[in-house]
Amino acid sequence: MNIKYKLISAFFKQKSKLECHNVLVTTNFYYKNLSENNKNIFRIRTLIFIWTTNFNSEPQFSLNNKMKIIISSAFVQITFGLKINTLDKFNNIFITPRSYSYKNNKTLFDGDVNLYTKKINMSWPAIEKGFKIPDDAMNLSIHEFGHCLIFENSTRSYLSKIFKEKNFDQWKKQAEYKFQKIKLNKNKVLRDYAGTNLIEFFSVSLEAFFEKPEYFEKNEPKLYLSMVKLLKQDPRKKLNPIIKSISDI
Ligand SMILES: [Zn+2]
Repeated sequence: MNIKYKLISAFFKQKSKLECHNVLVTTNFYYKNLSENNKNIFRIRTLIFIWTTNFNSEPQFSLNNKMKIIISSAFVQITFGLKINTLDKFNNIFITPRSYSYKNNKTLFDGDVNLYTKKINMSWPAIEKGFKIPDDAMNLSIHEFGHCLIFENSTRSYLSKIFKEKNFDQWKKQAEYKFQKIKLNKNKVLRDYAGTNLIEFFSVSLEAFFEKPEYFEKNEPKLYLSMVKLLKQDPRKKLNPIIKSISDI
């Protein structure tokens, strides 16, 4: 573990770290497959995220620690190769016990990121399902945190961007090609919802990137590689997904 996480680790109780491990090893496949050293870092990053985030729910729904750990693990997973440990703007997560709708709109949602309230809303059954089936390229928490990364990246100054400009441009170029394929019904890796717009495309790609990495790479190698560079990790390398240089790919 690097010195930064070793120092931060000392701030968290052994009991919290153990609880975090026990929850993650039974619920998060990505975590379960990591090396011991990476598991240590993952746990610390999960606890940092929980510590900096406000979790709320409807009064009749009791949101426990286990749920917070599971939800936070999705954020740690997608940012595991990146330097950020927390979100700056989207620090409020609201959990509902079931699908929900907004006033004057009957559409049911399982999750959304609200740009006005800066809240991430998600329904617990959909979150749970996302982790219970780890290989169907559907994970609500990964999807919604994907939106947060894009929104936060766009509002940050050049020097504090989450993604390197060059890598983000390369990803956009590949995404545009694939976007056209979806429009022409020539797509097989991503579900069609990716064709809604580039923001949805990014989140749907993330779900496939983590849950079907081999299949994704085989069928869309250029788009896959652009995501490896963007996120600085390759989920096919289960023990140690972090990519430090291009020669690691
Ligand atoms: Zn979405």
